[in-house]
Amino acid sequence: MSIKEIMQTMDYGPAPESATDAQTWIAAHPVLGHFINGRFVAPEGATVDVVNPATDAVLAQVAIGTEAEVDAAVKAARTAQAKWAALPGHDRARYLYAMARHLQKRERLFAVLEVLDNGKTIRETRDIDVPLAARHFYHHAGWAELLADEFPGHTPLGVCGQIIPWNFPLLMLAWKIAPALAAGNTVVLKPADLTPLTAYAFAQLCVEIGLPPGVVNIVNGDGSTGAALAGHPGIAKLAFTGSTEVGRILRRQTAGSGKKLTLELGGKSPFIVFDDADLDAAVEGVVDAIWFNQGEVCCAGSRILVQESVAERFLAKMTARMAKLRLGDPLDKTMDMGAVISHRQRQRIEALLAAGEAEGATLHRAPCPLPAKGSYVAPGFFTGTAPAQTVSQTEIFGPIATTLTFRTPDEAALLANDTRYGLAASIWSENLNRAIDLANRVKAGVIWINGTNFFDAAAPFGGMRESGFGREGGRAGMLDYVAPKAKSGALRAAPAPLAPVSPALGKAERSPIDVTAKLYIGGKQARADGGQSYSVTGKAGVIGQAALAGRKDVRNAVEAAGKATGWGGVTAHNRAQVLYFMAENLAQRETEFTAALTQAGTPKPQAEVQATIRRAFWYAAWADKFDGRVTATKSSHVTLTVNEPFGTLGIVAPDEAPLLGLMSLILPALAMGNRVVAVASQSQPLIAARLYQVFETSDIPAGAVNLLTGDSDSLAKTLADHDDVAALWYFGAANGVAAVESASAGNLKPVWAEAGLRDWLDPAQGLGMEFLTRATQVKTIWMPYGV
Ligand code: NDP
Repeated sequence: MSIKEIMQTMDYGPAPESATDAQTWIAAHPVLGHFINGRFVAPEGATVDVVNPATDAVLAQVAIGTEAEVDAAVKAARTAQAKWAALPGHDRARYLYAMARHLQKRERLFAVLEVLDNGKTIRETRDIDVPLAARHFYHHAGWAELLADEFPGHTPLGVCGQIIPWNFPLLMLAWKIAPALAAGNTVVLKPADLTPLTAYAFAQLCVEIGLPPGVVNIVNGDGSTGAALAGHPGIAKLAFTGSTEVGRILRRQTAGSGKKLTLELGGKSPFIVFDDADLDAAVEGVVDAIWFNQGEVCCAGSRILVQESVAERFLAKMTARMAKLRLGDPLDKTMDMGAVISHRQRQRIEALLAAGEAEGATLHRAPCPLPAKGSYVAPGFFTGTAPAQTVSQTEIFGPIATTLTFRTPDEAALLANDTRYGLAASIWSENLNRAIDLANRVKAGVIWINGTNFFDAAAPFGGMRESGFGREGGRAGMLDYVAPKAKSGALRAAPAPLAPVSPALGKAERSPIDVTAKLYIGGKQARADGGQSYSVTGKAGVIGQAALAGRKDVRNAVEAAGKATGWGGVTAHNRAQVLYFMAENLAQRETEFTAALTQAGTPKPQAEVQATIRRAFWYAAWADKFDGRVTATKSSHVTLTVNEPFGTLGIVAPDEAPLLGLMSLILPALAMGNRVVAVASQSQPLIAARLYQVFETSDIPAGAVNLLTGDSDSLAKTLADHDDVAALWYFGAANGVAAVESASAGNLKPVWAEAGLRDWLDPAQGLGMEFLTRATQVKTIWMPYGV
C-alpha cells in the first residue's frame, strides 16, 4: 500500500519489525540444551520442536531435561549458594543491576525472540514484557543492597526450583530469578518447553556479566522435568506459575518435604463496570483486560460484570471497539493481537467456546479475518451467560470474556466472588467511595481501580483462594525468598494416642473426678457431637476429662466462625481494645491459670501465664499498626498494599506449652481480624476450657474464637480438608505436617506447618512479625489519580 493510498483510506499500513537479528540468533542455536554451572550443556535425552505459533514454522529444537540433568543443575546451585549468599548485598546488587542494563541494551533482540516464540505482538513485548523484566532486576538490585537493613534476622533459603509458563516467558523468569538472587539464593529454572528462547538468551547474558557459575541454572524440559525438579531433595523452595491443576499436584508432591512453596495459579477475574463509570475508558480497559496477550493472562478480566442500567450501552460500545481490533502478524507494530501459543491451546479454547454455546450462551466474535497459517483465535465475548455455566467458571485462557449484569453493589460483590479463584479484579466507577468499598470486599490479591493489568516490580502480585499463595514483587515478594533464622529445635513427637471414654459408660467408670471440659463453638460451650471424652493426665494422675471433638464439631465450629464476619469488619482500634481487655482479664486470673498449669505439670507455669498476658498486650498494640503501606509504583498511581485477614483461620496448637503455645497463635490471628477455629494441646486441653470465660468476659464476639479439644491430627486433617477454612497453622509432628499440607491441596489454602519444637517462652521464638505476616495476605490496590 502506498503512502498516498494510506492517506486516502486512513487505513493502517504495514509496519513490520525486522526479525533479522533474532533469526540469526536462532540459526546459531538450532538445539537448545541446558545452562548448568555456567556452561551450556548439550541435551542427553530427547528434544522437541520449538514452533512459531504465528506461522507454524519450526524454529529450533529444545531439550527435555532428564532427572540426571536436573540433579546436575541442583548440585551446581547448591555448591554456588553459600558463596553467593556470603557476598555483600552490594555485590549481589551489582550483578542484578548488570542484568537489567544488559537486558535494556538487548531489548529489541529479546522482544523479537519473544514474539517468534510465543506469538504475542511486538508492541507488547517491546513496551511491556521486556521493560518490566528490566524494571524487576533494577528493583531487586535495590533489595539486594538493602537486604541486611530491611530483613534483619533472616537468611536465604538455599536453592530455589522455579517453574514458569509460556504466556510471559521472559517476564516470569525475571519475577522468579530477581528476588531469589537478591536474597542470596541460587536457582534452577525450568521454562515451558513451548517457549524456551528468551531464557536461553538470558543465560548468555549471565555469562556476559560474569555471574558466578551455578548461581543461575536453566534446565529445559516439559512437565516431567518440572516434576523431577519439584521432587529433588536438594531444593529448599519451589516457586511455580501455571495452571491450578499442576499447582495442586505440586502441593501434594512437596507436602512434608520442608520445601517452601509459592504458587501463582489461574484466575477468573471480574471486571466490574458501575453505571457512573467512564464507559469509554472502561471499554479500553476491556481491550487491555481480555484481549491483551490474546487473553493468555492469569489475571485477565475474563468475567465482565456491568451494572444493568448501562449494560446495553456498554455492550454496544464494546462490540464497536472489538470490530476495530487488528489481529495478524505479531511482528507488525500495528497489530493488537497475535497468535495463541499453539494449535492445542486454540483447540482447547474453541472447545470451551462450543461448551458455552451448548449451555445456551451467545458468542459474539470480532469480524476479523484470520491468517491462513498459525494458531489464531478471533476475540469475542459471551452474552446470556449464567454464573454457574462452564464458561463462567473455567479459565478459558483465550481472548473471550463472559458478560453478566448486576443491579446493586452488593450483587456485584456476590458475583465477583462467585468463583474458586481470587487473583485480580478491576473496578470501574467515578465514585471512589464505591470503588474502594468494593475493593475491600472482593476476594482477590490485586485490585485495579479504573484500570487493569498494571504491573510493577514494587507492587506485590499474587492470589487468594485457588489462585494460589505467595507474592511476587515488592517487600512481600522478598519475604517469600527469605526465612527467619532457624528457631525450632528437635522434632516434635506425636502425642500419645487417646483412649476415648464412651458416654454409655457409667459415671463411676469415667473418672473419679467428674470434670468434663466442653468445646467452645459460636460463643457457647458445647458437648462433642459424638458425646465422647478422654481422660487428661496431670502431674499426679487423671485431672479431668476433655471433650473428644469429631468432624461434625469441626464443621460446626467453621460454620460459627464463618458467621462471625463482624470481627473482620470492626476497626483495628476496636480489636485492640478487645485484646487489651482480654489481657486484663487474664491478668486478674493469673493465680488460677498458674495453679491449673501446675496441676497439668507444665515446667514453668507462672512464667507461661505471665508471658501469655504480655503477649496479649503486644498483639493488642499491633492490631492497629500492622497495616500496610503505600508502594512506589508508576507515576499517577497511589498503590496500596493492605494486610488483609484470611477469614477463617484454622489453628492446631502445639502439644507443649498448653496455654502459651495456643494463645501465641490465637492472639496474632485475632489481632489481624481473622476468625479462629483452634485445636488445643492434645495432652493438656483443660486450660482451653478456662479460656472460654476469658473470651466471654472480654467482648470477643460469638464465633470469632472457637476452641476444640481431641485428637489433634485428625482434627487438623478435617480442617485442612475444609473448603471454608482459608488458611491453616499446624504445630505438630512431622507426619501431621505432611498430612495437612497434602490435604490442603483441595482449596489450596496457605499452610504454616512446623514439626520442630519451639521454646514458646522465648520471645524470639514465640512472638514477632512472622506471626503477623502469617496471619495476613497482601492485597494490592492500584488507584489512579490525575484528570
Ligand atoms: P501448566 O500448568 O501445565 O504449565 C506450567 C509449567 O509447569 C510449565 O513449565 C510446564 O511444563 C510445567 N509442568 C507441567 N506439569 C508439571 C508437573 N507435573 N510438575 C512440574 N511442572 C509441570 O500449564 P499449561 O501450559 O499446560 O496450560 C494449561 C492451562 O493452564 C492454560 O490453558 C491455562 O488455563 C493455565 N495456565 C495458567 C497460567 C497462569 O499464569 N496462571 C500460565 C499457563 C497456563 P511444560 O509446559 O513445559 O510441559
